[in-house]
Amino acid sequence: MTEKFYITTPIYYVNARPHIGHTYTTIACDAIARRKRMLGVNTFFLTGTDEHGQKIERAAEAAGKTPQQLTDEVSSEFRALWDRMGITYDDFIRTTSERHKRGVQALWRRIRDNGYIYKGHYTGQYCVFDELYVDAAGPGAPCPECGRPTETVKEENYFFKLSAFQQKLLDLYAGHPEFIRPETRRNEVISFVRSGLRDLSISRSTFSWGIPVPDDPKHVIYVWMDALSNYITALGYGSEDTRLYDQFWPADVHMIGKEIVRFHCVYWPAFLMAAGLPLPKGIVAHGWLLFEESKMSKSRGNIVRSETILDVLGQDALRYFLLREIVFGQDGSFSFDALVQRYNAELANGLGNLASRTLTMITRYFQGEVPYPSPAAARHAADDAIATLATRTIAEFNALFDQYQFSRALETAWGLVAAVDKYIVENEPWSLGEKQDEQSRARLATVLYTSAEALRIVTALAHAVIPLATAKIWSQLGLGDISKFDLSKLKWGQLKLGTRLGKVDPVFPRSDKSAIERMQNMEDQGRPLATAVAVATESQPQSAPNPQVTTQASAATPATVPDGKIGIDDFAKVDMRVGQVKVAEKVKGAEKLLRLEVDLGSEVRQVVAGIAEAYAPETLIGRKVVIVANLVPRKLRGLESNGMIVAASAEGGRPVLATFAEDVPVGTRLK
Ligand SMILES: [Zn+2]
Repeated sequence: MTEKFYITTPIYYVNARPHIGHTYTTIACDAIARRKRMLGVNTFFLTGTDEHGQKIERAAEAAGKTPQQLTDEVSSEFRALWDRMGITYDDFIRTTSERHKRGVQALWRRIRDNGYIYKGHYTGQYCVFDELYVDAAGPGAPCPECGRPTETVKEENYFFKLSAFQQKLLDLYAGHPEFIRPETRRNEVISFVRSGLRDLSISRSTFSWGIPVPDDPKHVIYVWMDALSNYITALGYGSEDTRLYDQFWPADVHMIGKEIVRFHCVYWPAFLMAAGLPLPKGIVAHGWLLFEESKMSKSRGNIVRSETILDVLGQDALRYFLLREIVFGQDGSFSFDALVQRYNAELANGLGNLASRTLTMITRYFQGEVPYPSPAAARHAADDAIATLATRTIAEFNALFDQYQFSRALETAWGLVAAVDKYIVENEPWSLGEKQDEQSRARLATVLYTSAEALRIVTALAHAVIPLATAKIWSQLGLGDISKFDLSKLKWGQLKLGTRLGKVDPVFPRSDKSAIERMQNMEDQGRPLATAVAVATESQPQSAPNPQVTTQASAATPATVPDGKIGIDDFAKVDMRVGQVKVAEKVKGAEKLLRLEVDLGSEVRQVVAGIAEAYAPETLIGRKVVIVANLVPRKLRGLESNGMIVAASAEGGRPVLATFAEDVPVGTRLK
């Protein structure tokens, strides 16, 4: 029987539009799945969307939609993005689908029949954002998870006997250290479980957007129990046809972000134990993707959309960057500068350049046929060193990738690229090509064979990460369809002599400086729009504390205001004040930006403004300006901008600062 492999992304909560954080998880799973398939493993890769819960119900209401309309829209955005990116998922599960609902109810019945569900009463504080009952002092007290105000609820609930699983879970973690990775997350979970598990409320009766509890439809099933079950319902659990379930469950890897570790490592195995079902083999938690040091979140306005990068540099660039730049498991930083730098250095000038120079020389000197490397007499130690390094690279890459150390695996493969580059420079095939004597021809043949074979090996290894470019290089090497290659057999010396090369074309056009600016502009233009449709939302119950944006506040936006208009209440949210510029200076490396210190009466703020081309810094000192004082701070070129300066900006013209014809005291509010 062939080996099987089942990998899942978390299902993404549809209260947020897809952004690069979702893309990161999905790309990691896609690369793993692609590589498993290349190794001949029977692979199933699942992703999907999580669509129930009070947050969705409220967001839909605020947007004047039904919850189903809202979830249909956002779910299809996720799916369209994955399709555009060529993500090779085998199934896309939605928690509002009939097959999922049926499966969740089947799981509920099974746990209930095994005696682990009972009815009880709950009175206490509830965090709508986290969809969690929390220990908080009383009405309105902040949620200990996210800092938002909690609501007091009193309801009759079904409870899951989580307390019965404390020791079983601890035994699981002790007996299977690989169950939770990395180690830091494992330790957190163990200490959480050791501190004591209380029974878990697993139904809600205060809202209706969920899956009805079997035989008691006044209640809907707790959104996390609903969501986690997707990993088995997608395989047909609870349906007539359980062939996929029988074949693929238990999952080999649930890939998740670190903020949902508890749900996956405590609740999910406990539910499965209670149902008497096999447990997943491993849960792998990655870190957060930060944007210039701060966590991406809608309220900070620093979310980067994947589409921007796809439009400008293409999907391979994004995939390579995320897996190479970030040490998997730890938090990593995203910036356009770093993206373009890696793209140029490692893709365009690295692999791309190695491919084009090697293949071009074979075309020129050997009429496009892979030449014969010479036997012993014409061989140099450097040729064998490349062969040895390539063999070692295959072994190291495989070992690192299997441990999800993508960054180090790619670093290893690109070490081979660098070694071959150096080898080519030192052996000067272009000089050998000028000579016609037999010995020079033999040397030339050996150098180009060695380079092409190393190129083939890097291409095969990197295919799971950068599928488009490697497929092109593979076909330019005359090897046909890379997806048919059996990666498990990869070794030095497989490139057949006399192989006819395909047409040689560059695979990574070099990117100029303007790429950074174009991407930043696209993001700046996309951002207000994204915020406008955001309604009552943040991403999954995961964000760092951010009390200033609460679901209640957003949900209060009246749905009846005509398109394109805002109510006076909305305008009143914008705190504009008269400020006086105290300090103004250019920002190093940014032609358009000035760093200002502006006195608002009560405090002095640092504001970074894109007005350097219109105003010399010294002309601004002492000038009165209008500042939007309650904007969420954002970072520009590493500088925090705490507020925005108001200017008239004609399309293509220079910005003109708003000012007053009469004197106004500093700190005065505009309304
Ligand atoms: Zn909360």
